[in-house]
Amino acid sequence: MIVNLEPVLDRYLKIKPFLSKIHNVRVTRAKANESKPFRKCIECGCCIAGAPEIMEKGDHLDPMSLVKIARFVTDPRDGLKRKTVSVKSKVKGYTVELGERLSKICPRGIPIDKAIYIVKA
Ligand code: SF4
Repeated sequence: MIVNLEPVLDRYLKIKPFLSKIHNVRVTRAKANESKPFRKCIECGCCIAGAPEIMEKGDHLDPMSLVKIARFVTDPRDGLKRKTVSVKSKVKGYTVELGERLSKICPRGIPIDKAIYIVKA
């Protein structure tokens, strides 16, 4: 399956999908393990294709971006405030059921349900 990522790329780049304002901290193995599952994302877009109810909303974060935010929220080196009110409002429509479904769709076995929980919390 090939997913057309063009409709989400602009917004994806706006979330700054890279380490930013880097903190020079020691990363323990336990801390590294927190972000590990989310670092496996290959940006294939399968989760986007599997979440039409989210994409139809228009104002919501696509699941690939959501996973990327969870990846950096769980990385103590990242210095950006990523869980802003604005970001949280863009994940309201994600349900537990949707998270579980997307976790099954992801070819890398990424726990997208957990990413949703992390970003919403
Ligand atoms: S399906 Fe998995 S690997 Fe593909 S973009 Fe989504 S989270 Fe990343």
